[in-house]
Amino acid sequence: TVRVRFAPSPTGFVHIGSLRTALYNYLFAKKMGGKYILRIEDTDRTRLVEGAIENMIEALKWAGIEHDEGAMLRDGKIVEEGEFGPYTQSERLDIYTKYIDELLEKGHAYHCFCSKERLDQVREEQRAAGTTPGYDGKCRDISIEEAKKRIEAGEEYVIRLRLPENKNITFNDVVRGSVTVNTADLDDQVLIKTDGFPTYHFAVVVDDHLMGITHVIRGEEWIISTPKHVYLYEAFGWEAPKYVHLPNILNSERKKLSKRHGDVAAKDFKAKGYLPEGLVNYLALVGWSPEDNQELFTMEELIEKFSLERVSKSGGVFDKDKLNWVNSHYIKESAPERITDLAIPYLIEAGFITKEDAKEKYEWLCDMVKLLQEKIDYVAQITDKVDIFFKTEIKPEDEKAEEILKLDHLSHLLDVFKEKVEAADIIDEAFGKKALKEIQKEHGYKGKNLFMPIRVALTGAVHGPDLNLMLKVLGKQNIINRIVYVKE
Ligand code: GLU
Repeated sequence: TVRVRFAPSPTGFVHIGSLRTALYNYLFAKKMGGKYILRIEDTDRTRLVEGAIENMIEALKWAGIEHDEGAMLRDGKIVEEGEFGPYTQSERLDIYTKYIDELLEKGHAYHCFCSKERLDQVREEQRAAGTTPGYDGKCRDISIEEAKKRIEAGEEYVIRLRLPENKNITFNDVVRGSVTVNTADLDDQVLIKTDGFPTYHFAVVVDDHLMGITHVIRGEEWIISTPKHVYLYEAFGWEAPKYVHLPNILNSERKKLSKRHGDVAAKDFKAKGYLPEGLVNYLALVGWSPEDNQELFTMEELIEKFSLERVSKSGGVFDKDKLNWVNSHYIKESAPERITDLAIPYLIEAGFITKEDAKEKYEWLCDMVKLLQEKIDYVAQITDKVDIFFKTEIKPEDEKAEEILKLDHLSHLLDVFKEKVEAADIIDEAFGKKALKEIQKEHGYKGKNLFMPIRVALTGAVHGPDLNLMLKVLGKQNIINRIVYVKE
């Protein structure tokens, strides 16, 4: 059965490129009835960030990309679930020791005692000579016995992979086809560092093998490392998994998307009020396309339609407008209560409402959101749209609206409408319809000449949300104030 993994390093946040990698792993696993695993690659002890694992798990959970095995957040604590653990590399050190000993014994690895100064110097000389910098192999012939003595004497060391000379390493990438690299172009990779921790390259191979990973689906930046990994499988006598390297996500200048170009963390999008299903739907399409032109997908549909064969070779451009379009679809489709709950913090922050209002006027807020949710791409935009419900000084938004406010019958129409408002006990959704009907009967105004001036007077715009609900949300006093203001 298919087993795939998402293997982030806990260095801070989930980049949306990583989120897409996680998504493709998840989709493929679900489609194939396999398992999707979360492994924490924390062997680079210098890059650890407090709380990063929790944040990552939460971001993945928010996105609906939940794993079957690995580190889980239960009641705020990290626990591991699954039969292939530990799933956190720093807890697997004795496993790496066992396997590095095997490689040393087979002669596929050796101890290297070169100091950093020496390595720097070698590289310096290579550069000066115009050759590609790399390890020169000085320690390759040190025997295990001699190495042991030097280690006992307290010398610092690393353990390196002993690559055969001039050997072609070939593997097949599901996206890119056959890739061949000659060992002459590869370094004797460090497998165990001076601090005793494995490097990424060693740990990834040991873990993918022991965890039964069948497909390695990861970003294309790792494809240059894959030949070393493939050789390690060979050295151990293990079968390598299938490789699937995903194209980068690019910015509009076709460069790799990075922090400097604005939002890149999943949590940045969450903070703006993008919906997880909008972000996930959009990300699925950056680097993959279905057979037909479908653009909106539920997670179930993505699982059904996804295939590795249709992952594209070239980088996908991150298109904010398209993301917004996709997200706006999900906002429109959501229950007003959901969007209201998301909107409340922005409305408080912007000073439109207080915490108490959020509770006391909740139903009113829901009605308001219902009127506005068609007009926003992500929830934070709501604060740009609510002015008409909080301000009396509404100015005509464009020339068309100005024209309408100049109509001869405007003043009279607003007067009679105001009378109806004043006479009403409450302004509910039925009020508008009834009042306009009466005005038509009593004064002969009808159609556009009837509702348009009222709409523009109250909102400043010729287009806008449903008039009846809007009147309800505005409420009696607001409507009266607005009419008084326009007439002045
Ligand atoms: N730890 C690597 C990362 O942070 C994982 C690469 C892989 O999937 O092999 O991206």
